[in-house]
Amino acid sequence: MEEEEEKKKKRRKPYDRHLFLRLMLILFLGFALSTCKACPNAGDGVLSIHLSTADPIPGSVRETWMREAIAAVVSLHGPCPFQPFGAVFVDHTLSQEGVKICAGANHEISDPTLHGEVAAIRNCVAKHGQPRIGSFFKNLSLYSTAEPCPMCMSALRWAGVREVIFATTTPRLSEFGWGMIEIRAEEVNAKSVNVRDPVPYLLGEILTNETDQFFTWQFDKSGKCPAGCARDAKTSNLCVKKAVSSM
Ligand SMILES: [Zn+2]
Repeated sequence: MEEEEEKKKKRRKPYDRHLFLRLMLILFLGFALSTCKACPNAGDGVLSIHLSTADPIPGSVRETWMREAIAAVVSLHGPCPFQPFGAVFVDHTLSQEGVKICAGANHEISDPTLHGEVAAIRNCVAKHGQPRIGSFFKNLSLYSTAEPCPMCMSALRWAGVREVIFATTTPRLSEFGWGMIEIRAEEVNAKSVNVRDPVPYLLGEILTNETDQFFTWQFDKSGKCPAGCARDAKTSNLCVKKAVSSM
């Protein structure tokens, strides 16, 4: 009997060892995923892989074009737009400083899909209509005052843009009270399968010290208005352009 028991134990040993190794592997993978900064579902960390990549374009040039994206929405809706989402397409392949190709601004009031990025795409096509859309956008960088939502990022991916540069991030917009679909731009990139165009370079949080002020007042009545605007009791205390003094 004892011999039989001993044989059983020996037979069990390899199984037990494999079980132990499997458990160790599961624990290791769990730890690796919980600390992974480059994984698609790693929250804010998803941007770190791009932010740590050396950007070939000087920061001052990026900021200049981000101001142009702000100008795209301010020129259409005034200094305190309720939907301050502006976008501009720039060609950095013609020169490092970049050449403006076209711009757009959010106009959801007339079309719910008309976010700043989609408006810019449509304006570009209307202005420079090309038989092969992909080849037209492949040299272009999109600058947006906020991180593209999944609809816009998908549209940019289908367009085959070269770069997507944005200011205020999706998690920040959520913090400010904006209704968001929290699928990050990086996740749309990561989950694009067999999309022929190269994955666009992503760069976020450019010039947020200037863009955030446009997003903080809409859902927080104590939030400060953008420059040149003030709360107005006649419009449910929204921020409106300051009246010009007649003095
Ligand atoms: Zn969008």
